[in-house]
Amino acid sequence: MALTNLQVRDLETVLHPYTNQATIRDTGTLVLERAKGIHVYDVDGKPYIEGMAGLWCTSLGYGNEELADAAYAQMKKLSFTHLFGGKSHDPAIELAERLKEKAPVPISKVFFVCSGSEANDSQIKMIWYMNNAMGRPQKKKIVSRIKGYHGVTIASASLTGLPANHTDFDLPISGILHTSCPHHYRFGLEGESEEDFATRCAQDLEDLILREGPDTVAAFIAEPVMGAGGVIVPPKGYFEKMMAVCQRYDVFMIADEVICAFGRLGEWFGSSALGYKPNSISIAKALTSAYMPVGAILIPEEMYQATIVESKKVGTFGHGFTYSGHPVGAAVALKTLEIYDREKIIEKAAAKSPQFQAHLKALGDHPLVGEARGLGMMGALEMVADKRTKKAFEPKAGIGAKAVAIAQEEGVILRNLGDALALCPPLIISPEEIDDLFDRVARTLDRVL
Ligand code: PLP
Repeated sequence: MALTNLQVRDLETVLHPYTNQATIRDTGTLVLERAKGIHVYDVDGKPYIEGMAGLWCTSLGYGNEELADAAYAQMKKLSFTHLFGGKSHDPAIELAERLKEKAPVPISKVFFVCSGSEANDSQIKMIWYMNNAMGRPQKKKIVSRIKGYHGVTIASASLTGLPANHTDFDLPISGILHTSCPHHYRFGLEGESEEDFATRCAQDLEDLILREGPDTVAAFIAEPVMGAGGVIVPPKGYFEKMMAVCQRYDVFMIADEVICAFGRLGEWFGSSALGYKPNSISIAKALTSAYMPVGAILIPEEMYQATIVESKKVGTFGHGFTYSGHPVGAAVALKTLEIYDREKIIEKAAAKSPQFQAHLKALGDHPLVGEARGLGMMGALEMVADKRTKKAFEPKAGIGAKAVAIAQEEGVILRNLGDALALCPPLIISPEEIDDLFDRVARTLDRVL
């Protein structure tokens, strides 16, 4: 099909992130114009269910007037002030108070950023800073996981355990290590129970720490449920066992809750849903339902104390972004949290999860689907060439991308993570809309081969 004028201009000017630059020139881009509820509309007026909540973020859907009004009101009142050197403003203070109240573990301070990558980058810097302040400068290595996703800045891309984020970017940087991926379907041994697999993953972490030297390993970072790595739900008992290893070697546990916080797994925080208590937490995305780019790290007292020690030594805490705690972002985040509370969005997401997961698991019977996996209001359908042997399709076949293109024809936006089709709709999706979403996904699967 010939590209439209907008598509041509787009390809002439915009370098699209996370896009196959070689093939996009043939397929063109999907140019969207407006959105309401769970639907986005293209320039021709065709509606699509946003089956991925944008990028795991638009939990309250689109066209929310209250959020737009909160942004407008704050822009008129105080469009900007930074938080450097002792300045502050009401929305940032209130937002930090709310986040401390909501946090599942004791939090000393909230440090604001604008994205998940900045959050995780800041976590690494804070760990290094803390261990220097505590007089253990050799304890600096950070462990993340194969297939974990933590962002794309130099340090957070190094944490990310996906080849495309490293190859020819000369990453990872030194001092970042990757331990095993807790995906039982792909990495469990023949006949190995989930529990035994979880034990083996924890043993892998312990072996790595011992190999490197416990005095050199500072932190372990993990998403409660891996998102971009394929929506990988850890096996039963996994975090309990991983936490025990971290505690044994005084390794700080960071929960990257950039996707899982704010109801995605049916609780305010994903770590609570999975029953473990991290030392510090990264958040972003649904914090504003993606109406503004806002993130934060929620840090414990010992990390805060390090900033005092270092300030005395260096003269300042030398870290911060121009837009850390941007007043408009903070006002929108506050309103988002208010709506989550008032509309019982998290409780309702928990109530809708069984329906969502039942639809998802039913598609596990489809001849193309090797594994249907998920938790709460997120999931993935991994398409395989042979269901019995779990044999994957040749990457060249581009099955994942093909399925996404067909889904688009069927009026639903999905994302392929390799050959796994990810689903993560806005949390406001109604039960009827969940049925509609899965009807379209089923029709998509029927058309892939
Ligand atoms: N951490 C997790 C778990 C994510 O899923 C993402 C993005 O998808 C990030 C970090 C990076 O966030 P951003 O793209 O806002 O930098």
